[in-house]
Amino acid sequence: MSRTIGFTTTIPVEVIFAGGYIPCDLNNIFITDPDPMRYIERAERDGFPKSMCNWIKGIYGVVMEKAVDAVITVMEGDCSNTQALAEIFRYKGIRTIPFSYPYDRDKSVLAREIEKLMIELGVEGEALAGVEKEIEGVRSDLALIDRMTWKERRVTGAENHLWLVRASDMLGDHRKYQRMAEEFLKEAEDRQEIEGINIGYIGVPPILLDIYDFIGSVGGHVLYNETQRQFSLPFAGNDIVERYLSYTYPYGVFARLTDIGEEIVRRDIKGIVHYVQAFCFRAIEDVILSETIGVPILTIEGDLPRALDTRTKLRIEAFIEMLQQK
Ligand code: SF4
Repeated sequence: MSRTIGFTTTIPVEVIFAGGYIPCDLNNIFITDPDPMRYIERAERDGFPKSMCNWIKGIYGVVMEKAVDAVITVMEGDCSNTQALAEIFRYKGIRTIPFSYPYDRDKSVLAREIEKLMIELGVEGEALAGVEKEIEGVRSDLALIDRMTWKERRVTGAENHLWLVRASDMLGDHRKYQRMAEEFLKEAEDRQEIEGINIGYIGVPPILLDIYDFIGSVGGHVLYNETQRQFSLPFAGNDIVERYLSYTYPYGVFARLTDIGEEIVRRDIKGIVHYVQAFCFRAIEDVILSETIGVPILTIEGDLPRALDTRTKLRIEAFIEMLQQK
């Protein structure tokens, strides 16, 4: 039996490690595959509609092809499609473990959800405490990588994205991930400062493969990746329940707005690129974000895992030019 536990979005990964399992963020497997389109094609062959978010199809395709022991499906606090996805997994005979973030951020409800997950994976409190302690070190290294992106300007937006987005499963081995992060930090220390106008990226992680490189090539430096930073849980010192309550992503747009506003000021962000995924319900939040964020915002949409199209490139270029002239 495989010891790998897949999941559809960031969950308290400490519990999976403490149970002796290997965590696997299915999104990351999909998007880092040399040929991510094959997962989408597999989903469409199995009947998934064309007019549906391709992250969902990618996750489905990965689960159909990789050996996972179970999939933790986040029923509340992530995606409106997850319930149907969980149902099709169950129909196909795959073990699913539901997990929910309470929309009202109720501490006792979240504590209960974490407890249920512990019971499901046979995790004792002592084992969890041990893992939590070890993982603190990785989280503080990731916070340093983030700081080296905006404060010291020695880490690119693409690198920042990768290090923080992979924090959801730490590539299945948190000790190794920490060693890798420390080596990276050492290497980045001697770099030249990165130039470019300060850009923030908000929204779900991009399906578009070259967005950071392109922004860099036209004079922008992405020094804030909203959701990816949240995936790294940069809230030191709190216990597991507090930490996942401070995490903004599952609790709606208003929880996110506070974090975005603070980071715009702290990082002196001049403009925001807001990424929305085609057919994602979160696109509706763009209305609120555009009206409440105090700096210029450019909303771009992606659909398939491929390079930016010419029209989107032109829009990004014009946006950065406008910010430079301001
Ligand atoms: S991009 Fe939107 S629709 Fe797609 S998986 Fe994420 S939350 Fe769901």
